[in-house]
Amino acid sequence: MKHKREVKLKDPRLRALRNNLREIIWLEWDRRACGIIDAKSDVLNSKLPENEKLRLYEELVKELEHIDLIIKSSVVMCGWCRHRDKDMIYNPSNNQWFCLDCYHEHSEDILSASSFIY
Ligand SMILES: [Zn+2]
Repeated sequence: MKHKREVKLKDPRLRALRNNLREIIWLEWDRRACGIIDAKSDVLNSKLPENEKLRLYEELVKELEHIDLIIKSSVVMCGWCRHRDKDMIYNPSNNQWFCLDCYHEHSEDILSASSFIY
């Protein structure tokens, strides 16, 4: 997306549905991230030759970076406070979504930074 976009839901049933979907996506992301972190540890503790360990480890690092980028640019959570149950606004300058509270409270920091989270 190239333009700032605000998404607000007033209907409590839609808000609950949205929050549940975000939670499901977050839990799946967390499960995958933990799996990759465990796999990195397994590779480091394996008896594989060092060059093979390094190759596998670098693949896992890239995979983790890839799924981090996906969650960072998604509307699942605020890029500042990480809450997942609020209305969000998209900031095209860093390709991230922020809750309205954070966006208005930290707009100077948000607009000047290229990325947040972790
Ligand atoms: Zn926030």
